[in-house]
Amino acid sequence: MHEKTLAEQSRLLASGEISSSELTNHYLERIERLDGDLNSLITVTGAAAKKAATAADEKRKAGDDSPLLGIPIVQKDIFCTKDVLTTCGSRMLENFVAPYDATVVSKLDTAGMVNLGKANMDEFAMGSSNENSYFGPVANPWNRKCVPGGSSGGSAALVAARLAPAATGTDTGGSIRQPAAFCGLTGIKPTYGRVSRYGMIAFASSLDQGGPLAHTAEDCAMLLQAMAGEDERDSTSSHEPVPDFSSSLQQPLTGLKIGVPEEYFSAGLDDAVASCVQSSLAEMEKLGATLKSVSLPNQSLCIPAYYVVAPAEASSNLSRFDGVRFGHRCENAQDIEDLYKRSRDEGFGSEVKRRIMIGTYALSAGYYDAYYLKAQKVRRLISDDFANAFADVDLVAGPTTPTPAFETGAKSDDPVSMYLNDLYTVSANLSGLPALSMPCGMVDGLPVGLQLLGNYFDEVRVLNAAYQFQQATDWHTLAPNGIE
Ligand code: GLN
Repeated sequence: MHEKTLAEQSRLLASGEISSSELTNHYLERIERLDGDLNSLITVTGAAAKKAATAADEKRKAGDDSPLLGIPIVQKDIFCTKDVLTTCGSRMLENFVAPYDATVVSKLDTAGMVNLGKANMDEFAMGSSNENSYFGPVANPWNRKCVPGGSSGGSAALVAARLAPAATGTDTGGSIRQPAAFCGLTGIKPTYGRVSRYGMIAFASSLDQGGPLAHTAEDCAMLLQAMAGEDERDSTSSHEPVPDFSSSLQQPLTGLKIGVPEEYFSAGLDDAVASCVQSSLAEMEKLGATLKSVSLPNQSLCIPAYYVVAPAEASSNLSRFDGVRFGHRCENAQDIEDLYKRSRDEGFGSEVKRRIMIGTYALSAGYYDAYYLKAQKVRRLISDDFANAFADVDLVAGPTTPTPAFETGAKSDDPVSMYLNDLYTVSANLSGLPALSMPCGMVDGLPVGLQLLGNYFDEVRVLNAAYQFQQATDWHTLAPNGIE
C-alpha cells in the first residue's frame, strides 16, 4: 500500500478496495519497524490515529466521499496540536501541550485526514540539515550517512521512507523545498498568505508559510486544497479566493514561458546538479514550454538579506519563551533576572542562540539603519527583480539547492557554509512568491531537486507544470533502497 501515492490511495479508498483502518495500521507498523534509526518522528499518536481511521471508515460508509478522508499524514512538530505534545524541536517546549489546534491541523482534520504523529525538525525551524533538533538528528533514507535537509527534515525523511504518504512542513527560507530536494519528494511553499499561520509556532513571521510534502504534484494539489484559505485568526492570511488546484493539472504546457535566471548557473552550483536541471528544462521544452533567459541582478544579495531579516524577526518572536509566559523554567532561580537568563540558556540550543544574538544586534538602536533597514530595502529590490522577470515569463525555474544532500556533520561547524544551502530558496520567501521543488535527477545515489517559482497566487500554474513533468518522467517514483 505504501508504494502508492496519496492520490492513488484516495482512489482505492473511494472504490472500497482498502479501508482507512488498514492503511493506518500499515503505516503505524512501518513507523514502529523502520523509524528507529531514521528518527523522523518525535511523537507517534497510534491510539488516536486508529480511532480516527475507524471514524473515517464509518463516514465513508455513510456516503462521505471527501478525497482526503481516511488518508494518514504526519504534522511537523511546529504546528500546535490539541492534547498532543508540540515541541518545535526544542528543549524549551519539551513538555508543551497546546490547548488548541493550528488552523492547518484543524483543516486537515476536517478534511478527514488521520494524524499519525509529529515530525522531527530543526529547533524552531532554524537549520538546513535537521542537526539542530533537541531530539537528535534525522537520517536521510537515501543514504543514512547524509542529512535529510531542514528544517522540515523529519517530514521529508518519513515520506521518503514511506512511513506516511504525506507530511506538513513550513518554509521560512526553504524548509519545505530543500528537504524535498534532498529526499526525492515534491513540496510546495505557497504564496505568503495562502495558508494560515495561526497555531504555527513563529520563526520569522513575514517569511513563514506552511505547505505539504508528498510524492507528486497531484498529491500536493489535493493537500494544498485542504490547507489553503483565509483565516480570521491570521490577519496576514489572504482574501484571495482559493482556486481548484487540481482542475488544471491536465493542461498541456504548450505556450508556457519558463524563465531561466542566468545568475542561478554560476559559482557555487555543483556541475552534476546543474546538468540534471538542464536536462529537465530540456524535457519541459519537449513538453511544449519555451525557455527564456532572465536576469535576477540582486540574486547575490538574497542570503545576506535573509540572514538579517529572519534572525531579526526570530529574536522578537522568541522573546516570549522566558520561562514565565512560555517554555522551560530553570530550577531554583535566585531572582527574576537569573530565572530569565538560565531558563533561556538551558532551553535554547546553540543555533537558536546565534540567531537571537544576530537579530538583536541588527535591531539595536545603533545598527538598525545599517542592517535591518538596509536588508528591508534589498528585499524590495529582490521582489522587483521577480516582478520584472514575470513581466516576460509565466514561471521561473532552476535548481532547488546547490548540491545534493551532504554528510551529517560536514557543515555543522561552519554556519556560513550551512547558510549557503539556501542560495536558491530564500528569494521566494523574501518576495512572498509560491515555489515548488520536485525530483529531477540522481547524483551518486542521491536525489536532485528542480525548483519552479510562480507569480503571486499562481500555484495552479506551478502545480500544472510539475504534474506535466511528472507524467513524462519517473524521478518522483524512485524509492530509496530497502524501502520498497
Ligand atoms: N535554512 C533556513 C534557515 O535556517 C531556512 C529555514 C526554514 O525555512 N525554516 O533559516
